Amino acid sequence: MIVLQSSPFSMEGRVALVTGASSGLGAHFAQVLAAAGAEVILAARREDALARVAGGITGDVSTLRLDVADAASIAAAAGVLARVDVLINNAGVVAEAAALDQNEAGWDSVLDTNLKGMFLLAQAACRAMRARGAGGAIINIASILGLRQAGGVLPYAVSKAGVIQLTKTLALEVARFGIRVNALAPGYIETDLNAAFWASDAGKAMLKRIPQRRLGRLADLDGPLLLLASDAGAYMTGTVLAVDGGHLVSSL
Ligand code: NAD
Repeated sequence: MIVLQSSPFSMEGRVALVTGASSGLGAHFAQVLAAAGAEVILAARREDALARVAGGITGDVSTLRLDVADAASIAAAAGVLARVDVLINNAGVVAEAAALDQNEAGWDSVLDTNLKGMFLLAQAACRAMRARGAGGAIINIASILGLRQAGGVLPYAVSKAGVIQLTKTLALEVARFGIRVNALAPGYIETDLNAAFWASDAGKAMLKRIPQRRLGRLADLDGPLLLLASDAGAYMTGTVLAVDGGHLVSSL
């Protein structure tokens, strides 16, 4: 996606930090933001994977070792967070099991990463943005599973519902500091990790329930991401933007 420097979607002069940038959506978001002119900091736990992704991006990019589920790791990133204008809270995990078979470790890892981690990082970023007085934008990556139900992913669905309420409540509190907080709620997006599932019979059956009858592509997220991250979305805060081929409005 080409964004002209004079367009309201331009990220020129902004510093963006993307968590979970070592693969999937996060790696793609980092590339899109860099292409739109942002200085991008790619954050995740695996430095080798981050370096590989960063090496494939043209623009002003750097990497940061960060475990969002670890408050000490977030505190150690304070120096970097002090420069961030746009935080893409993307890191997320899933623990698949039937609700009655789910264990405490699965619940804890999903909630600690997807919800507690998102809160602690958003809080740290907002504190730094308030101190700098230049405003900012937080984009929390939710999911349509925060708004609808599916079997086998109870902690994940609970975490994403929490992300939506975190987004709205934080938006209310920090709007006065010029900080916007919005959520992007993707439907099913094809990535390297899930491509095999979508090629299977179960995956193909699931596709029939999406009104547009196709999976999302990473590029389908580019416009919505830049809308929320840039001045194009200057009067948007507390929103949940679904990008799902109509999945949320599928017939009952
Ligand atoms: P992915 O597994 O490819 O990426 C997740 C990233 O988060 C990885 O880079 C991983 O290393 C990182 N991560 C996990 N735990 C972390 C931690 N404690 N600290 C720092 N980084 C950590 O998955 P993805 O599909 O790219 O998912 C990215 C986000 O998008 C997640 O929040 C996910 O819930 C959301 N999402 C994905 C889809 C989809 O269809 N792929 C749909 C809706 C929402």
